[in-house]
Amino acid sequence: MSLSYQNLKTRFHKIMIDHGKDVFLRRRCSSCSQTGAYAKFPDDCEECGGVGYVQTLERYTMRKQIVGTQGSWPNTLHVFPTGVILGEGCYFFCEAEVLPKYGDLIYDQDSSTNEWTVYEVNKALERRYDSRVLFWNLACDIREGSAL
Ligand SMILES: [Zn+2]
Repeated sequence: MSLSYQNLKTRFHKIMIDHGKDVFLRRRCSSCSQTGAYAKFPDDCEECGGVGYVQTLERYTMRKQIVGTQGSWPNTLHVFPTGVILGEGCYFFCEAEVLPKYGDLIYDQDSSTNEWTVYEVNKALERRYDSRVLFWNLACDIREGSAL
């Protein structure tokens, strides 16, 4: 098989179908996101009303990979406010069209316990081929205390 952007994209899509799981993505409010990672969101924000996240949950298929203990991300600034408990970190991989960004939340349901875990995207890394985004690699931390 020749190595082309489209071939790789098709292969990645197949990996998502075969090995991925359905999760929900809740995006950070784009109106508030300029105010810093853990800044207080303004109560008068017309987009989110001060919540800091949009109301809509978007469903995507992502590949989840546990990568061990918290704090293992290279070049990551570890600043955690009250309410964020250090837990196990993980990667999510998703397709180019998802367009995730730093600070977005991922709601992940455990298939055996049905319990939800909320992850916060700590780093959204583009993986490119031929100068186009092939997929995203999201370094995530468990976020405790987030409203579902
Ligand atoms: Zn807002």
